[in-house]
Amino acid sequence: MIPPDQPKYVAWRRQMVESLISRGIGNQRLLDVMRKLPRHIFVGDTLLDRILYDVDQAVAIDCGQTISKPYTVAWQTELLDLHPMMTVLEVGTGSGYQTAILCEMGGRVFTVERQAQLFRKTKKLLSDLNYKARCFLGDCFNGLPEMKDFYYDRILVTCGAPEIPLGLMQMLKVGGVMVIPVGVGAQRMLRIFKDGEDPSQWRIEDHGDAHFVPMLQGRNF
Ligand code: SAH
Repeated sequence: MIPPDQPKYVAWRRQMVESLISRGIGNQRLLDVMRKLPRHIFVGDTLLDRILYDVDQAVAIDCGQTISKPYTVAWQTELLDLHPMMTVLEVGTGSGYQTAILCEMGGRVFTVERQAQLFRKTKKLLSDLNYKARCFLGDCFNGLPEMKDFYYDRILVTCGAPEIPLGLMQMLKVGGVMVIPVGVGAQRMLRIFKDGEDPSQWRIEDHGDAHFVPMLQGRNF
């Protein structure tokens, strides 16, 4: 059952968006989506619903994973610079909240999750909500075999990778952009512009400290 969108949620989202603006988020389409999209639908426990709209709160979901803080979701999505009809690959479906935002922004969304329980639950939720995201189960560190020979305009990684995953970089179109937290222990948010096939042609911007659950290898059934 989808919890109803009560006036308190509408008010909390308005406040959330004001905080995001005061923290420097300026992408109007993104702010409109975050004002509209009920975040509480994506987590089971509605007792936490006030906390869910705090821009600095990451909240636990199933399988020891978290739904990223609203500020982090906004920050990563703004860096991604997604335009309608672009193909976008999200690594780490988790709750599906970020996936829904990418759909609302007009992306053609592909998303991968390695935790089977989360994959099944979130895939059903996204389809019940009528989102057309294609959901895959697996470890996306080096891309999935069933996704071979498909190239994306944008790749968004929502878990911390030990290093830049070369298999994922191969799946990015030339001219494409990847946003990814990278590092063991201390992570940095990187935005990588793939200006050519050769790694010497990748432009890497460092956007500062990041704190994400680790990108793990192998599927978890
Ligand atoms: N975008 C999510 C964030 C979830 S946290 C949200 O808005 O809720 C990151 C997710 O990445 C976790 O669900 C974790 O299971 C998943 N993950 C970690 N390593 C992965 C990998 N190698 N391939 C795919 N998913 C991975």
